[in-house]
Amino acid sequence: MRPNAELRSKILLVTRLLERFHGPQRWRSWGRPLDGLIETVLSQHTSDVNSGAAFRGLKRAFATWKACMDAPAERVERAIRSGGLARQKTRSIQAILRFIHKDRGRLSLEFLRRRPMERARAYLLDLPGVGPKTAACVLLFNLGKPALPVDTHVHRVSWRLGLIPDDATAEDAHKILEPACPPKRVYAFHILLIRHGRQVCKARNPRCRECVLTDICPSTQLRTGDRPLKFKQRGQTGV
Ligand code: SF4
Repeated sequence: MRPNAELRSKILLVTRLLERFHGPQRWRSWGRPLDGLIETVLSQHTSDVNSGAAFRGLKRAFATWKACMDAPAERVERAIRSGGLARQKTRSIQAILRFIHKDRGRLSLEFLRRRPMERARAYLLDLPGVGPKTAACVLLFNLGKPALPVDTHVHRVSWRLGLIPDDATAEDAHKILEPACPPKRVYAFHILLIRHGRQVCKARNPRCRECVLTDICPSTQLRTGDRPLKFKQRGQTGV
């Protein structure tokens, strides 16, 4: 599919304006891909603070991923309790580790670095319980590939900016935005939309008067007369 040229230039403009406001964003490695995958599983349905504590607890409790894979589930649950949904996340983590170990004979995802993005994505999506958002996080943050995870902030801010249709789900947004965004700008676009969504274009009370995007934003309250901007999330932001 040919990327939509108009959408592409709007994404570039949004990224440029947000960089002026929030500062430039250059890609940096967020660690080894298997660590990143486990961290992303732990981050589901909880805050960054809680999932960070759960990940550190897991690393403290087990010297290797093999030890974590072979441990009784209750021990893993205890180690990640601070991240919530400990039983469910333990099941996912141990199932992922067993899958990789059986398939590769070792617990590492480094081999994905050499694979083209779509083949690396297909492998990640084959892992038990791994959905498009988790796969995109590992591809972007740990493997340095231009995949675009769509979380609740990326979904909401893109919607308010008119980058995606009114009825687009998070999965639709991913399919529309990722091919339209130039690969070199995917990381910055993703990080900046999240930062903007947390600090300025908040879910309930967007601070349009302080926003650098008002001139290009069809939802700005400066035009809609302070009426609340209704973003109705369609579908889940996925895993
Ligand atoms: S102008 Fe308002 S609605 Fe538009 S992106 Fe900025 S904060 Fe969000």
